[in-house]
Amino acid sequence: MKTRILPPDSNVATNFADHFIGGLMVSDEHRHIIFTNSYFKQELDWEDSHLLGKNINTLFSGASQIFFDTYLFPIISIEGQCEETQVTLLKGNGERLPVVIYVRSSPDKDGLLYWTIVPSTNRDKLYNELISNRERLEAQAERLNSLATVDELTGVNNRRELMRLSETLLDQAIRSSREVALLFIDIDYFKVINDTHGHAYGDLALKQLGKILNEFGRSSDIIGRYGGEEFIIVFPDASRDAAQRYAERIHKLVEKIHLTVSIGVSQIKASNATPLDVLVESADKALYQAKSAGRNRTVFSDNIQGSHA
Ligand code: GH3
Ligand code: MG
Ligand code: MG
Repeated sequence: MKTRILPPDSNVATNFADHFIGGLMVSDEHRHIIFTNSYFKQELDWEDSHLLGKNINTLFSGASQIFFDTYLFPIISIEGQCEETQVTLLKGNGERLPVVIYVRSSPDKDGLLYWTIVPSTNRDKLYNELISNRERLEAQAERLNSLATVDELTGVNNRRELMRLSETLLDQAIRSSREVALLFIDIDYFKVINDTHGHAYGDLALKQLGKILNEFGRSSDIIGRYGGEEFIIVFPDASRDAAQRYAERIHKLVEKIHLTVSIGVSQIKASNATPLDVLVESADKALYQAKSAGRNRTVFSDNIQGSHA
């Protein structure tokens, strides 16, 4: 079979161009449109007379035009072409159509640019689905993380997260020779509250206390539920006075929800590396002393009588 070769200067090539799926266009050195295939008329609602001889900006959105000047044309002048670029095309009927364009400059250095323009509506749809899926997954991960770290009833950190965050804070504080205070807070006579008003009422009291503690602390404070009606707060840069004031404010706040708490406080002083479990144990001992001394009070671990803590 004989190979068919296009005769030069025939308009057969122009006819071929009409069979392509997608817009084929040529612009001159003044960025004027000098050729479009019939795709522009058939699919993009443009009359030839509205395009030929007109600036290529006729075909693109304002944002795309800025993009052409700042990116597309500089790239073409350096590399001779620009591939797979997403822009917005204006159809003859005024609709906006996302398209991908490929532009190549003529090798003859005559300033002609050869444009291939392909609608990318589906690509946009896929991309948007991808984005919304990712957002859904992120929200899901956030929910899961919250389930794993937050105590459901009280809204403060659960015990595991409390200990994890406290370890980190302690490490940082010790490395930078800063002081840390740990408050061990236990509701007084909580069993009686449960027995008198019922377990649901007790739950509500715990919830309220959790809310108070969460709102009261600074963002750098670590607040968590250590056990049933026991909370721990760890905070950095706490002098003894500051810890004392902190505890007093808590006593005042819990009064408002008709509870009293006892608080044991332990501290690490600058450069005195103390492991977290020792700090918790000292605070617990101080708490025990606060209970024996009549409750509704704060005891510091260095005030424990007969103790070397
Ligand atoms: P003390 O002043 O010595 O601390 O007395 P207390 O009654 O608070 O101490 P105790 O440890 O004897 O009792 C704690 C009670 O807390 C017992 C338990 O039923 C109750 N409790 C623990 N977790 C929860 C909870 O999630 N909800 C409710 N409603 N009660 C709880
Ligand atoms: Mg207790
Ligand atoms: Mg108690």
